[in-house]
Amino acid sequence: MTRVLLLGGTSEASQLARELAARRVDAIFSYAGRTAAPLPQPLPTRTGGFGGSEGLARFLRAEAISHVVDATHPFAAQMSRNALAACAAAGVPLCAFERAPWTAGPGDDWRHVPDIPAAVAALPESPARVFLAIGRQTLAPFAARPQHHYLLRLVDPPAGPLPLPDVAVVIARGPFTRAADEALLAAHGIGLVVAKNAGGAGARAKLDAARALGLPVILIDRPALPPRRIARTVGEVLDFLAHRADLGV
Ligand code: NAP
Repeated sequence: MTRVLLLGGTSEASQLARELAARRVDAIFSYAGRTAAPLPQPLPTRTGGFGGSEGLARFLRAEAISHVVDATHPFAAQMSRNALAACAAAGVPLCAFERAPWTAGPGDDWRHVPDIPAAVAALPESPARVFLAIGRQTLAPFAARPQHHYLLRLVDPPAGPLPLPDVAVVIARGPFTRAADEALLAAHGIGLVVAKNAGGAGARAKLDAARALGLPVILIDRPALPPRRIARTVGEVLDFLAHRADLGV
């Protein structure tokens, strides 16, 4: 019997949830619980951590999960590592529904950096107006460069003080459009964009807007993960679900 655990938190996961629900696939959708009002899903939904890889392995057994689809954000590396370990321990096949990373095209002015500390180090010395499009969890390292004005875009209003001295916050949830992001960058006088190489369509708008405005981008590479089976399309996920025996990558 097919019973899927879909690890979510991305627009790709929501797209897949719609497809699975339409096909009446037995599936549970899982949210970490980071946002105050997560999008409702057309699948039975649970919220919150599992308690590490051991907790997830227990969940897989208790819920008789036959397949795990990891559709978390490419920077949610802890969850993805836990899912790999738990699936190995419980003998459940896993597939990542992962968007391809963005690649620069004509007119893009991107500087690739390996991680957040490298992005901080790549900032200019002279004060700049920076669109820091990295969410709210990894802001603190940027306090080492307090001379800059930072524009943040967050899903929820910050619950407490932010670790940056000169900051403006816009509350919005993607997907975004190039035209709207161009207007946002222009309205805030932004001169530099810092972003994670998330891939996907909805988050790409800020990079297209930066290109249109001739702005440089510091683009943070994805964290490395162990080898795993990857699906780029819903069809590839459905193929994976059709083959219970495939435990490989
Ligand atoms: P993370 O650092 O990889 O995971 C930290 C812990 O959060 C995990 O060990 C797990 O707790 C719990 N967790 C994460 N995703 C979960 C899920 N889908 N269901 C249940 N528990 C989950 O993750 P993160 O970077 O904080 O991301 C959290 C959520 O936000 C994910 O759903 C991700 O897709 C989404 N998101 C992340 C980013 C980003 O830039 N990191 C951007 C957009 C959306 P336990 O160990 O207790 O199981």
